[in-house]
Formats: sequence, structure tokens, C-alpha cells
Amino acid sequence: MNIEPVYSSLDYPKKMALVLFTPGCDIRCKFCHNPQLIKYDTLNKMEVELIKDEVDENIDFIDAIVLSGGEPLLHLDVIKQFIAQAKDADLLIKLDTNGLHPDKLIDVIDDIDYVAMDIKAPLDKYYKITDIYPNDVKERIEKSIDIILSHDVFLECRTTYVPGLLTPEDVETIVSQIRCNQYTLQQFRNRATYDVSLLSVDEPNPEELHDILMSIDTNHIPSLHLKSGQFGNQKIK
Ligand code: SF4
Repeated sequence: MNIEPVYSSLDYPKKMALVLFTPGCDIRCKFCHNPQLIKYDTLNKMEVELIKDEVDENIDFIDAIVLSGGEPLLHLDVIKQFIAQAKDADLLIKLDTNGLHPDKLIDVIDDIDYVAMDIKAPLDKYYKITDIYPNDVKERIEKSIDIILSHDVFLECRTTYVPGLLTPEDVETIVSQIRCNQYTLQQFRNRATYDVSLLSVDEPNPEELHDILMSIDTNHIPSLHLKSGQFGNQKIK
């Protein structure tokens, strides 16, 4: 399994970041673009040390670390080590999470600067995206949102739009169910997917996604973004 950190200027807005991947996930999104990673659930001591060495060696060239996966909160003890290392070096810390672990999130939120939380589907319709999910998705997501916003941490919620799995009405419902600083609709990419039948599904046209966002009437989310392979990350309104 390859869990090598990746340098990115796209994963933390306007910052150069080192993205650290942790293996394993407790759900199985059909569109998951990291299917190899989610099948494993352990990180051995040597892998952890290698990642820490990579951060140490490049500390002068990065502004932030991004804890990604998989689901990083499944490895609370390990990510606490990465967080401590980043804090010592005055780096910013972003967490990518599926939002289903508020009990663990509360343990690290004081040290996090930015959370990107996936909202897979309307909170009562996760069955559209994954066959495995907890039966209290709505409560968990709402609790995570409460924790993040009550700690004044920037919250981006994001949804991957897969034609045939979600509809424009689903996106409207999602937006009405959440609170965040920014909502991002992401274009589904068909290059690697957990459910291989999605490899033959066409990627949605950015114009179609733009129209979906433009049709949403919301006053409670300050900004709506679209992320696509063609145009990158665009602020729509
Ligand atoms: S997309 Fe994210 S939440 Fe979904 S299975 Fe993959 S790692 Fe887990």
C-alpha cells in the first residue's frame, strides 16, 4: 500500500501543504477514488515514523499539513502525533473527514485550523452512496458541525456529484440540512472508483454543476464553490 505524503497547492486554500494519508474507512462510498487505501486499517510504527520524517525534512517548504485518508479520525493516536509535530513547527492543520466521528473530533478540534467534511447525500439518504454507514448519520453529522463551528474553525462541507446516484434536488436538500462557511460541489471523476461499475459513468459537465449551484436559494451558507477537473476550484456565489 502506498501512503506516501503528497505535496499539494490545492488541498489547503492558498497554502503549500503536505497531504498525509491514513488508511481505512468505516464507510464504502461507491465513488471513492482511493479504493486501495480504504481496505487496510492499520498504520505500523515504521510507516508513522517515515511520514514524520517526511514532514521534518520539508518543514521549510510547507505552510500546512492536511490529514486525509481514508478516515483520519480512525487513527486518533497517530494523527495526534502529526498534529503535535505540525504545531511545534507553526504549520496550519487541515482535517479531511467524513464527519461521522464527533466523539473523536472533539479531542483534536482545538488544534485544527480548517475542516473539510464530506456530506455524501441528504442526511437520511446515505444508502444512495454507500452500503455501509451508521444508522445515526444525521445526529453524527450535526454534532460534528456543532463542534467545528462552536470552536470557530473554518468548515467546508463538500459533496461529490455522481450522475445517477444524486439528483439536483438532493444537492438542494443537503444544503438546507447543513451549516458551514463554504459548500463545495465536486465533480465526480471516473478514473478510480470503489464500485467499478462507476468507471463507465460519464463525469458530469461543469456547466450542469454550475447550474445546480446557481439554482440553490440559500442565505445561511456564505459561499458556494464548484470543483472540477476542467476549471479547478471556482467560487460560484
Ligand atoms: S470517499 Fe472518503 S468517506 Fe468515502 S469511502 Fe472513500 S475515504 Fe471513506
